[in-house]
Amino acid sequence: MLKISLAFLSMIRTVANWKLNGSRTFCKQWFKDFTSHFSGDLSSIAVAPPAIYIPLCTELSAHQINICAQNLDSLDGEARTGEISLEMLQDLNCNLSIIGHSERRHLFGETSNMIRDKLLKAAKPDFNAIYCIGENLADYEAKLSFEAITEQLNSELLSLSKNINLFVAYEPIWAIGSGKLPSKNEIELMHLHIKDLLLQHKHINLLGIFYGGSVTEHNCIELSQSDAIDGFLVGGASLSGKSFAKIASSFT
Ligand code: PEP
Repeated sequence: MLKISLAFLSMIRTVANWKLNGSRTFCKQWFKDFTSHFSGDLSSIAVAPPAIYIPLCTELSAHQINICAQNLDSLDGEARTGEISLEMLQDLNCNLSIIGHSERRHLFGETSNMIRDKLLKAAKPDFNAIYCIGENLADYEAKLSFEAITEQLNSELLSLSKNINLFVAYEPIWAIGSGKLPSKNEIELMHLHIKDLLLQHKHINLLGIFYGGSVTEHNCIELSQSDAIDGFLVGGASLSGKSFAKIASSFT
């Protein structure tokens, strides 16, 4: 049973991160638009709505599309107003969460220690993380992207000793929502670097490396043809079910 669910998740290629957008009407219209424009494998899709809409989206997707949380807390049952635990997500049959998105780091003060604790929490056989990392513009311009990513991985992930199933989303901070992207070659080199580092660690079950940052229906075709890019994490362009369907179709 467990093997089946992990095989299912390892096929994810395109993830929609709706951030702080949505309503019941939006969710219903989105699934209608998406499913009428996408003819590929629904199990290759994940949708991360605001947590309050997870049950509705699970129902609207008829359990065929992976529903993902945007965040989780590293604890359960404590005095932590406003947080959502992994146990609560699993209670809703949600076994997938984004961890370490740059907006959580920069707008909500999540530190590397906090993200490490969240990864530790997510390190369960029946749970899967989409772990986001990315360098800032200053490091990119100073050609220090590889150093920045290596440091992030070392301090947040590589020192964990528990087995963890994860996708890594390489999301340069300066590319998120900016309309600017690294070149395809730069993305490929970074993905290979991440893969090389992670494959040396037996406790990491790497399910794929996604690129995220200003992916649109126009630039997705070239990127999706790269063997080094296993999928996309999409923010702004995922808010239209039709546009997101076009992006997801680039992998079919
Ligand atoms: C994101 O928020 O993860 C993201 C990639 O956003 P956008 O696609 O809007 O750049």
